[in-house]
Formats: sequence, structure tokens, C-alpha cells
Amino acid sequence: MIHKVTPDSSIFQVVILHLDLDAFFASVEQADNPSLQGLPVIIGQSLRGVVTAASYAARRYGVHSAMPIVQAKKLCPHAIFLPGRMHRYHQVSQEIMSIIRAHCPVVEQASIDEAYVDISGTKRALGTPKTLALSLKKVIKNTTGLSCSIGIAPNKFLAKVASAWKKPDGLTIIEPDAVFQFLAGLSLHHIPGVGKSFLEELGSLGVQTIPDILSQPKSYWAQVLGKRGADLYDRAQGIDHRPVLPKTDPLSCSAENTLEHDTLGLEMLKQYLLIQAERVGHELRALGKKSQTITLKIKFQDFSVITRSKTLHRPTDITHELYTIACTLLFAQKLEQKIRLIGISASNFRTDSAFLPLVTDKRHQRETSLDQTLDRIRNKFGNTSIMRADASHLKGDLQTKS
Ligand SMILES: [Mg+2]
Repeated sequence: MIHKVTPDSSIFQVVILHLDLDAFFASVEQADNPSLQGLPVIIGQSLRGVVTAASYAARRYGVHSAMPIVQAKKLCPHAIFLPGRMHRYHQVSQEIMSIIRAHCPVVEQASIDEAYVDISGTKRALGTPKTLALSLKKVIKNTTGLSCSIGIAPNKFLAKVASAWKKPDGLTIIEPDAVFQFLAGLSLHHIPGVGKSFLEELGSLGVQTIPDILSQPKSYWAQVLGKRGADLYDRAQGIDHRPVLPKTDPLSCSAENTLEHDTLGLEMLKQYLLIQAERVGHELRALGKKSQTITLKIKFQDFSVITRSKTLHRPTDITHELYTIACTLLFAQKLEQKIRLIGISASNFRTDSAFLPLVTDKRHQRETSLDQTLDRIRNKFGNTSIMRADASHLKGDLQTKS
């Protein structure tokens, strides 16, 4: 007798998490400069320009992004207007994305401050979606000082709507059986991609609400509005089949710091290299990569940049090895002026076992297990929760400056 086994569909339920940093650019400025905390901060300075970001204190005055600066100045004249530091925002973004990747297997970065994570079937390994979301929020907060809002739902569209539902520091979970109830409370402008001009276009077609869309078949919308119409019909039903697409693997892992003061002090530089080696090593291990080429980057006082690389006989992901190589490269360099930025990058990734040593020496084993222990602690409590003794006094500095 043959038993036909049909898979339990609930096991294959799709669960998508969408993470969105709160008032990202403004929050980075506040994290880097705590005296701005709680104040109305607006990114965008040129009188002819627009607001690129506004802190929540500024939003209370009605200021929002894309608003002309002139108007923002009228609404909130006492706000602090800053020019914005894209380089810094990218740096923090990278740090946050590597935290998410260190925790979750399938991550798609959607913008500088947003990511989708496919957490289907990860309950056993990563805990319930709620536990995972809370621990991501905690690690990001502890590491960067920034808060984020998270939405969890059966697809990308609903997860994105959910993350915007309660901000800042929100967590909104839409269970599959609550989707229709959730959609009933949704306005058209909540649907990502439905902006002001699309709303007007829909208005001219007599469409004001989600039920208005559902009153016609999908083929009608496809005919009238093309792909936008067909997609809109799907969204109005809570349908979105787009998969989470992790970008192809990065080609390198890197960390760098602009120093508090330009320096020639080797002890200080070594401490920065140590903390950078920790970061790069942690990222390599999270990616399951070993690097064969280690590069030291130095930017001098006059902004000239040099890089020095070493290609290894045996690829590594060991923090102590990365640190030692970076130090050797630094010591070999003639320093004729003060350094303003220093960094390490690891590239030329190998995963093949041909490089595995047949006999692992004791030291190698010791370093590997030390790294594993530190990774576990960092995954739980954040990047600066623990450091090797040499760099621990840089902790406060690195939390905001890396
Ligand atoms: Mg955001």
C-alpha cells in the first residue's frame, strides 16, 4: 500500500521582514553629536534645495523630506540645518547591513536605510520572527545608537507597509490570517509606489479606495494602466510574489576610521587596526569567506591616499592574523605626514578547501576558537560589546566614529 504524503503548506509559509531606519540621516547626526539629541535637525542647507531628512522633533512642525528648505525654515526657524555627510551615512549603512547579514541568511538591501529579509522557515534556527526582530533592533541600537522600525508579513509589500505603520522604533507584525483586515484599513497612499501623481491619475478614474480597485478585474487595470495597474490590483488583494534577492556576494570586507585628531602615534593607529581587524574578521566569518589579500589604507593630512597590500600563502578569516598583517604593512610604511584616516580591507576571497592546513597548529586553533566566542557575544550584544584588551578604551570613540 502506498501512502501519499502531501506537504503541510504551513511549513512553507513565506515570512518577510522589512527593516527601515528611523529618520536615518538626521539620526546619524544625532548619534555622532549627542548634543543634537531631541532637537529639530534638518539635513539640507541650500536655500534653493529641499529637505533630505528631518528628525522627529522637526517633523512635529510639519517638516518632511522633499520639502523646499525655504518652507522648512518658515515652519521651524529654530531647527538646526546641516549640509549632510553622505560618506558617513554610507559607512553607518554598511555597518548596519553587515549586522543584519550576520544574523540572517537571505538579505536584500533595498536602499541606504532599508532591507528586506526572507525569514521563512528560520524559526528553529533564529527564534520566532518577533524575537528575531527585537534582537536585531537591540543590536543595531547598541552598535550604532540608531533606532529602526520593522514590519513582518507574508510578502515584501505588506512587510514594507507594516514597517511604516508605527514609527519610530516600531514593530508591526501582520499574520497571514490578518491580511484582509489590515488591507481594509489601508488608504491608497500607503501602497508603496502610489505617489501624489499616481493618486491624481487614479482619482481621475474614479478610484479613491482599495475596494474601488477591486471592483474591476485585474485585466481591466492592466489594460488601463499597464503593469502599474496589474501590480496595483495585486497589492489591493495583499498579493506580492517578488522574492527577496540577496545581492551577489561582496568582493571585499572593509572597515576604516577617520581619526579624532590627525596623528603619527603608532600605538593609537594599532588600536584602530585592531578594532578594524575585529570587524573585518567578524564579517568574513559571517560570510563564510577567507581572504587571501589584506590591504591597508592610509589617508594623510593633505588627503592623499595610499594603499599597501599583502597576498597570503594561506587565506585567512582570523582576526589576529588580519591585525598582524595590517600592522606589518603600517610599520613598513614611511610616514612623512600625519594620518587622518586608516583602514583595513580583505579581498580575493577563497572558499576552497585546498587551502585548509592538513595539520592545524595549536595557535591557529586557539585563535579560531577565540574568534568564534567573540562572534557569538557580538551577535548577541552588538559590535562594541566586547573587544580585545588593547582596543577596549577606544570603545566610546569607535561606537560613533567608525
Ligand atoms: Mg528610513
